[in-house]
Amino acid sequence: MKNNIHHSASDRRRFIKGFSFVLGSTAFGLPLLSLSSCQSGGKTDEQSTEEIQAAANSRKLGIALVGLGQYSTEQLAPALQETAHCYLAGIVTGTPSKAEEWKSKYSIPDKNIYNYETFDQIADNPDIDIVYIVLPNSMHAEYTIRAAKAKKHVICEKPMATTVADAQRMLDACRENNVKLAIGYRLHYEPFNKRVMELGQQQVYGKVQSIEAANSQDMTKDSPDVWRLDKELSGGGPLMDVGIYCVQGACYTLGKAPAAVTATFGEVTNQEYFNNGVEQSISWQMEFEDGVIATCRSSYAEEENLLSGKAENGWWKVDPVYAYEGKKGETSEGKMDFPDVYEQALQMDGQAQRFASNQESIVPGEMGLRDMKILEAIYASARSGGKRIMIL
Ligand code: NAD
Repeated sequence: MKNNIHHSASDRRRFIKGFSFVLGSTAFGLPLLSLSSCQSGGKTDEQSTEEIQAAANSRKLGIALVGLGQYSTEQLAPALQETAHCYLAGIVTGTPSKAEEWKSKYSIPDKNIYNYETFDQIADNPDIDIVYIVLPNSMHAEYTIRAAKAKKHVICEKPMATTVADAQRMLDACRENNVKLAIGYRLHYEPFNKRVMELGQQQVYGKVQSIEAANSQDMTKDSPDVWRLDKELSGGGPLMDVGIYCVQGACYTLGKAPAAVTATFGEVTNQEYFNNGVEQSISWQMEFEDGVIATCRSSYAEEENLLSGKAENGWWKVDPVYAYEGKKGETSEGKMDFPDVYEQALQMDGQAQRFASNQESIVPGEMGLRDMKILEAIYASARSGGKRIMIL
């Protein structure tokens, strides 16, 4: 993943700076401690300051990371060293050498270290409150359902699943077991993207007229032997992996889901990489009820990273927008200026606070299911040669 920008010595400073920005300023004209309303893109948030405070005062929730690949290693575990409301309590890995390494690096007790066979025993471990699924996409459903049966809250990485049916099973399992399910949509906790939500949803420049979104990462510079290029494990190509951010971006710009989509696969120019059922590139349009069109594209053989919007009286563009840091944005009024924040830390803290006070996440399983329906419709349209598909 080329979005991976390592967090180094400046991380702690950046996080503290970012965190105090969110908590300590009247960001976007919202009152102090309006963290949760910012997070939901300016929508009214039913969680009161008292409830947030109560959660903040309670003990830190223990998170177990499942799958110690690049995202867990380079982003989530370091972020969990900075969080205020949760901490790295346990790990689930199939690789004994990784278990040893993480155990000493993060002081994880043996009793909180699991492999995929012993995973279900996590049910008996009071140190683990939240299981965070960071596995290849097609494994999200199985481990979310197993975690729910173990009566643990779940954070599941994007895409929530590889099919709508799996996403629904995951939601059902969490409901039946009375645990919360959140998706790892970190950008809902990040100031540039939150500003886009506000500009679009609150019609700061009048009614939104059009949206453009692109997220492409060149996979052809690395080995072709990776799970992202294997449809069985990934469920699809760039759309599933990075194009999902464009779907998210269009939806949170407007605060709603599209009514219909049309899509086309791009040409396969690299048979060596794109021979296993995974598209090389795809472009699509999302049609919203009020006639707004989002024009989107995603490729595994290019580099792009943008979200822009045009409204009656102004415009905005953030590029890069989905990367972990270094975001740059401008509007028709001038430069957007926000500090880098440690978005994974803010995300996990936000989700832990919600879980601790028995609230749904601002990025709940239902949002993951909605997005899976959109992704399936986009693929169905592209397979049909561009037929308009209604989102049900
Ligand atoms: P990765 O390949 O680096 O790690 C995957 C992990 O799963 C590895 O530890 C691997 O050992 C383990 N694994 C278990 N069974 C496996 C199998 N059968 N095949 C392959 N690996 C197996 O991947 P990653 O980049 O860490 O991505 C993991 C998940 O996190 C994906 O769902 C991805 O979409 C998501 N992700 C999200 C973000 C974000 O910004 N929210 C960023 C990167 C990745």
